[in-house]
Amino acid sequence: MDAQLEQARNRVRLPTKLDEGEVCHFRLSEFESPSGAVCIQPSVLVSLELVRHDLCQQCHDEVEILVNSGTRTDEDNERLAEKYGWVDDGGWVSHTSKHLLRNGACAVDIRARLKRRRSFQPDFNRSIPLKDLALFARQRFDWVKEYPTHVHCDNRDGGQKVTRYRSAS
Ligand SMILES: [Zn+2]
Repeated sequence: MDAQLEQARNRVRLPTKLDEGEVCHFRLSEFESPSGAVCIQPSVLVSLELVRHDLCQQCHDEVEILVNSGTRTDEDNERLAEKYGWVDDGGWVSHTSKHLLRNGACAVDIRARLKRRRSFQPDFNRSIPLKDLALFARQRFDWVKEYPTHVHCDNRDGGQKVTRYRSAS
């Protein structure tokens, strides 16, 4: 593919509605698999925006959520398993991963950090500790697991916490 075309591919902003109004902090390309496939559940986007919103409030500062991995094809999953091992063998990658298109592609692996760079602070201080991120994510996603490098979040039950948020408001 033409390099320029490839760069532009899926750079579409994804607005979503919260009680506080419409927000838009993610692009479709962030959820793309290495092979270029992308699929995102609306509830996942709402959960992500809610986690970001909660963290901004907690930190009294703007927080950005970084998506390490979103959609996966079976080939993507197998490639990852070669690197990180299958869950059955004590690794990280599941044969029934919720990242997979055939399982609804309702999962994201994320990290978070303060958006603003402060000259007097070392860069690593911008990161939100994964255990804190996991704590907040558990309020907004159906299923959350903390790994050494990211937090896995998915809405395997259809995004029940998002539905509850909607009906409570
Ligand atoms: Zn994951």
